[in-house]
Amino acid sequence: MSYLFCLLLLLFSSLFVHSNAQSKPNIVILFADDLGYGDLEVYGHPTSSTPNINQLAENGLRFTQFYSASPVCSPSRAALLTGRYQTRSGIWPGVFVPDDAGGLPLNETTFAEVLKQEGYKTAMVGKWHLGVGKDSKYLPTKQGFDHYFGIPYSHDMCPCLKCFYPGDKCFNDCDLIYTGCPLYNNTTIIDQPVDLLKLIERYVSKATDWIQSNAKSGDPFLLYFAFQHTHHPQFAGEKFRNSTLRGTFGDSLAELDWAVGEVMNQLRKSGVLENTFIFLTSDNGPSLRNQNRGGNAGLLKCGKGTTYEGGQRVPAIAYWTGKITPGRTTELASTLDLLPTISKITGASLPKAVIDGVDMSPILFGGVKGLRENFYYYFTEAQPKYGVYAVRNRQFKAHYYTEGQINSDPQNHDPDCRPSAKRTFHNPPLLFDLLQDPSEQYNLNNLTQYQAVITQLNGLKKAFEAGMVWGISQITKDHDHSVEPCCKPGCTPFPNCCQCHEKYHSHYFESKP
Ligand code: MG
Repeated sequence: MSYLFCLLLLLFSSLFVHSNAQSKPNIVILFADDLGYGDLEVYGHPTSSTPNINQLAENGLRFTQFYSASPVCSPSRAALLTGRYQTRSGIWPGVFVPDDAGGLPLNETTFAEVLKQEGYKTAMVGKWHLGVGKDSKYLPTKQGFDHYFGIPYSHDMCPCLKCFYPGDKCFNDCDLIYTGCPLYNNTTIIDQPVDLLKLIERYVSKATDWIQSNAKSGDPFLLYFAFQHTHHPQFAGEKFRNSTLRGTFGDSLAELDWAVGEVMNQLRKSGVLENTFIFLTSDNGPSLRNQNRGGNAGLLKCGKGTTYEGGQRVPAIAYWTGKITPGRTTELASTLDLLPTISKITGASLPKAVIDGVDMSPILFGGVKGLRENFYYYFTEAQPKYGVYAVRNRQFKAHYYTEGQINSDPQNHDPDCRPSAKRTFHNPPLLFDLLQDPSEQYNLNNLTQYQAVITQLNGLKKAFEAGMVWGISQITKDHDHSVEPCCKPGCTPFPNCCQCHEKYHSHYFESKP
C-alpha cells in the first residue's frame, strides 16, 4: 500500500515538475506606431472605435504616465528592445531611412536575445526600423528573433502612390526616391511593393499561425508585433474603410484594433491566454502634421518629435489574466522598463550592459509604488552637445531646451509645437507640476517655493549626463543606394525595377533564416 502511495506521489511530483518546466509565461508585445495619448477610446477619444483594445484595458492595467523613450521611431524602438537609452546604442540623431547603411549594433542585447537564453521561441511581425544594412545584416533575425515578417521601416519611406483606392487622394508626402515597400520573410524580400491594404491581414495570419504552432508544441514564446498602423499615410483594407466616425485615422485604428482582437482570440483558442503577459503601447506621440487626419495627444502639449508630454507620453496597457489586477495606475513607467520586467517575470538574467529600465513588477503585480522616479527626455535630433532636453522627477518636469518639430504641425495652434519654434535654452529651466498641470501650461520657475525643486532637477540632470556614454552614431546620413531593399539587386532602372510578387498565402514561417 505504501509502495503504491510512493509511486503515486512520484508520479504527481514528476507531473508537477513537468508542468512547472512548461510554465514560463509567453510574452506578447503589441507596439503601435504614432498612436497618441488621446487616440484610444479608453483614453477618452469620443469617436475612435477600438472594442478589442477596450476589452484589453477593461481586464488589464492602464497606465496614465507611461513614456516612450524617444519622440520618434528608430530611437524609441532601440530603447524598447534593449532597455537602454538610444544614445547608448548610437541610435541618434533622428531615424533610419531606407538607404542608411547602419542599424542597431549587433552587440546590443535585445529582449529577444534575453529570452532565447531561456529557451523561448521568438518572432517579430511588422515594422522594425532599426536598419537593414548590407546583406540584411541588421534585420531582426540577427538580433534574437527566430523569424521576421514585415516591412523593416515606415511605409511612408516607400512611394505610396496608390493611397490607397482609385480616386483617393494621397494626403501625405511619401518618399518617392526609394524602392517600393519591401515585405520580408526573414531576410528575403517576398513581395515588393507590397499591397498595404492586405498587409495587416498577412501580419495577423503570420502572428496567429505562429502562436498556434508554439501552443501546440508547448514551447514558451515571444511575439513582438509592431504595427505599421497608425503611422501616416493612414490606410485600412476594404473591411475597415469608412467604418468609423473618425475618418481615415479612425479606420486605420479600427483595423489595428481588429488585429489586436485576432491575436487575443488566437491566444484564447490555443489555450495559452492565461499564461501570457501582454503589453500594448506606442513608439511615440501622434503625428499632428496631418491635422484633422492625424493622431491626437489628448490633453497633452504638442505631439510627435517634441519633448513636450504629447511627444512621449503614450497609451500603455498591461494584461495578464489572473496575475495583473485590472484598473488604472498613475505610476511612472517607460518602454525602457519592458526588458527588465520581461527578465523578471521569466527568470532571465539581465544583459551585461548599463540598463536604464527598471522592473515594473511592483506596479503590475503588487499594486504598489513603482521603482521609477525619474525620466529623461532626448529630442528627435539628440546630440551630445545638447544632452537631455528635459528631466522629470516625480511630479516635476524641467525643460532645459524646448524645440518644435515638423511632426507636431507647422500650423499647430500652439506656436511652441511648430518647427518654427527653434531650439531655445532655458536658464532657469521651465518648470511644470505634471500631476496638477499635465498640459504644461503653468510655468512655476519664478516662484520662490520651487527653487529647491529646480536645484534638485539640475542635480539629477548633471548626474545622469555624467553617466551617459554616447554610442557611436549609427545614423550617419551617409546614404548608399546599394543598401536599399531591392528584390532584384543590381537591376535597372532603379528603383522602379525592384518589383517581385509572391502570391499571398499563409505559413510564411516554414523556413528558418
Ligand atoms: Mg513612430
